[in-house]
Amino acid sequence: MAVERVPLVFTGGRIWTGGRTRRPADTLVVRDGRIAALGPSEDLAWAVGPRTRVVSLRGRLLLPAFHDAHVHPIAGGLAMGRCDLSGARDLAACLVLVGAWAAAHPDAPWVLGEGWTTAAFPGGIPRAGDLDPVVPDRPALLVSADRQGAWVNAAALGAAGIRSDTPDPVGGRIERGAGGEPLGMLRGRAVALVGDRAPRPTATDLEQALLRGQAHLHALGVGGWQDASVGVADEAAYVSLARRGELPGHVALAMSWDERRWTEQVSDLVERRSRVAEATGGRLRAEAVKLAQDGSMETATAALVEPYLDARGRHSRERGESLQTPDILREIIVALDREQLSAHVHAAGDRAVRETLDALTVARKLNGPRDGRHAISHAGLVAHGDRVRLQALGVVACVQPRWAVDDARMRTQLRPLLGSDRAAAMHPLGSLARSHLALAIGSDWPVTTADPLTILDAATTRLDPDGPRGARPHGSVSERLKPDEALRAYTRGAAFAGWLDDVTGSLEVGRSADLVMLGGDPTTTPGMRWSDARVLMTVVDGRVVHEAPGLEA
Ligand SMILES: [Zn+2]
Repeated sequence: MAVERVPLVFTGGRIWTGGRTRRPADTLVVRDGRIAALGPSEDLAWAVGPRTRVVSLRGRLLLPAFHDAHVHPIAGGLAMGRCDLSGARDLAACLVLVGAWAAAHPDAPWVLGEGWTTAAFPGGIPRAGDLDPVVPDRPALLVSADRQGAWVNAAALGAAGIRSDTPDPVGGRIERGAGGEPLGMLRGRAVALVGDRAPRPTATDLEQALLRGQAHLHALGVGGWQDASVGVADEAAYVSLARRGELPGHVALAMSWDERRWTEQVSDLVERRSRVAEATGGRLRAEAVKLAQDGSMETATAALVEPYLDARGRHSRERGESLQTPDILREIIVALDREQLSAHVHAAGDRAVRETLDALTVARKLNGPRDGRHAISHAGLVAHGDRVRLQALGVVACVQPRWAVDDARMRTQLRPLLGSDRAAAMHPLGSLARSHLALAIGSDWPVTTADPLTILDAATTRLDPDGPRGARPHGSVSERLKPDEALRAYTRGAAFAGWLDDVTGSLEVGRSADLVMLGGDPTTTPGMRWSDARVLMTVVDGRVVHEAPGLEA
């Protein structure tokens, strides 16, 4: 299945290398999967042999392939085979899609779907009562786009044994009516009450999902990534595809922390790290461990320093739960750091960020300073004082610029919950980029689009890529990323976060030939958006893994 390698020469245009040397180059030579040479065309005529494919860069832009610092390709690939609700704007549209999927899959034991947002439902709460007439015969589990909520029918509530007297789990909530009866919406950790009952994908399902996810990423110009939550079964899918040569890119695996176990699992994680590296000749690296310290802002489960606002715009008592107490988080991070494992912590709220920094400070004190590449993912709100600490501790900030725009979610959910000032201060991308810390962009697909061009537009303009022309940008001008900053965070910065920057993430001689060619150059063409540029070709490990139709040279 692996695509064959052909010697490639890209010449006659602009090359953004992301590398340290600033020597001008209009030609890049690929041989045997590596970047063999980079320089002016007159010096590189030797590189064109009889089998060489020469690709013209005129009017185009050659970049390192995008590297996604936080993505879930298996979940994305699984979602591609399920009921997709991401386009549904209201309840009626959701029900049409669910009904059609159920009718098309009469033998599926469960109706599984994802992608809805609370904005589609009256009061922000989807109900089992609406779903039951459409799926009366089997359980239905529909996960929200941010994965922090689930909409379920009566059969699913029954399968999970959720009744009026079922207590809310720690870190989760069962939405209830006046008499305590479950309404059919689960938040945070309560999603797993039903999720754990749904049929598990088989090993073959996972491998096929990963291949689907990979093909989707390749078509978007993404060559490598960090999978931000890898269980043992996911790891097996990665390793078996890598060994069969069907996973050409460099991939970092952030192994999921098992919250049902304690720090004795660290030795298992250490063993998995070496097993993955040995089995794949170092192509896959499992240096990180994924932890979650809070949920999401829009479900009011992100852990905040100051409380959320209530429906009248006054401070409520709700500040969002920390998924680990600060003491426990500290013990876990100290134990991981001691074994030179990087913590990749989901922290959306400013309190979750602070608790993570507190834990990392203790780890440094006890274990000594080192290049730990611990990462904080999402970092929607970061207190000013904590930005300095991020930098001082050498933490990687892993950000999702697609969320950093003035879209319906920001206007109808976040601003009412946080107030205008806090909402406006969300996603301080420019401050993070300019405070000398490692900035890495991750899409968090399938939570959000995996399309780097859309995400680059959001990062550099802070405008809603799906909004009307003339809409207003989010935040202050200084919090937009400059094109160079955004590209660096989406290539080298992301590769750095996964301990892969020595092999990929920049166009330098000897690095893996992981590159993407765009049909235009937004960095030099006034008024051109990134999403106007189009991915013409993606090369991974010297193999053309994606090519736009009709591209001759
Ligand atoms: Zn994620």
